[in-house]
Amino acid sequence: MPANGAPTEMDTLVLLGPNEFEVQKAPVPEPGHHEVLCEVHSVAICGTDKEIISGNFLKKGWPRGYPYTPGHEWSGVIVAAGEGSSELGFEVGSRVTGTAHDGCGVCRMCAIGRYNLCDNYGHEERGHHHYGHYSIGAMRQFHNTSIKSVFKIPDTMTLEQAALVDASSIALHAVKRVGVGPGEVGAIIGPGAQGLLAGQIANLLGASRVIIVGRGERLKTAAKMGFEIVDNSKTDGPEAVRALTDGKGAHFTVDTAARGNTPADAVSMTRKGGRVSLIGVPLEPCVLPLQRIVFEEMDFFGVRANPGTCDEVIPLIAEGNLDVDVVTTHRFPLTDFAEAYRTFTERIDGAIKVLIQPNL
Ligand SMILES: [Zn+2]
Ligand SMILES: [Zn+2]
Repeated sequence: MPANGAPTEMDTLVLLGPNEFEVQKAPVPEPGHHEVLCEVHSVAICGTDKEIISGNFLKKGWPRGYPYTPGHEWSGVIVAAGEGSSELGFEVGSRVTGTAHDGCGVCRMCAIGRYNLCDNYGHEERGHHHYGHYSIGAMRQFHNTSIKSVFKIPDTMTLEQAALVDASSIALHAVKRVGVGPGEVGAIIGPGAQGLLAGQIANLLGASRVIIVGRGERLKTAAKMGFEIVDNSKTDGPEAVRALTDGKGAHFTVDTAARGNTPADAVSMTRKGGRVSLIGVPLEPCVLPLQRIVFEEMDFFGVRANPGTCDEVIPLIAEGNLDVDVVTTHRFPLTDFAEAYRTFTERIDGAIKVLIQPNL
């Protein structure tokens, strides 16, 4: 074992092609300038991972080629600090949560805090990374990452909860983008992790009611959590939301699904002067009711990742205001990735968030 406390060899998930993967041995990386090496505790499988593993984002450059290691919602402990990292407070032994975007730090978008829109996106040679998308991700026993992409967590937060910070911070960004006025009624499409987290956050920010629209086992979880629900496998989602809101529709709607017609449905279930935000990445075209957006002065917000919201969401989770345990349904060692992935994609046994624990 070298001086940094990490072994020299580790297990890592390797994608060999679309839907083709295996766990391989690889050398443990060294942390570079302003990087840390972390022993990974938990990595949550995300809907985006499914599209990356399936090859649906190859045209976007996620990944740029094979072999490739995904994973971007993770937690761990710093075991080695690269040059300049401990001086900035990232010391060996710190418990951290990790995220995907690492802006270059010097372009205009980074300078105004919108590093999710970095002008140097895709250029690792200019200091940009997007871990688990085109830069090497965390689905491995040890992960080296920029200190801009890790956040220290308090002792009151478990490392399993910390693996849900990335997903929670995206839900927070989506709800902040759409805005919540005191007492407003919100609608959320999709009862998955994003929907259940965004619903709780909408309540924390002042909504009086949140209606979750979707189908399947996960809708039951939404009901158990106290949300109003609409089963859109049995009824028309927009009509049902209107029926629950005196015919008016929600003040704001968050579409976490972005599949098929859901972005148009999101507009249709929102009232005059209302707002809609779109978290999911649409894979196919969708015709939006543009006349309605114009005549009813509606606002439509794209949402990309989580600029600045990891720091905001950490205390909400640590203090028990935001329940991430309720969406964390399964845990697997890395060597059982195939079973974990199937559990996630087929939603076996009510699966919502499935954690991979590479050092289990
Ligand atoms: Zn994700
Ligand atoms: Zn930048």
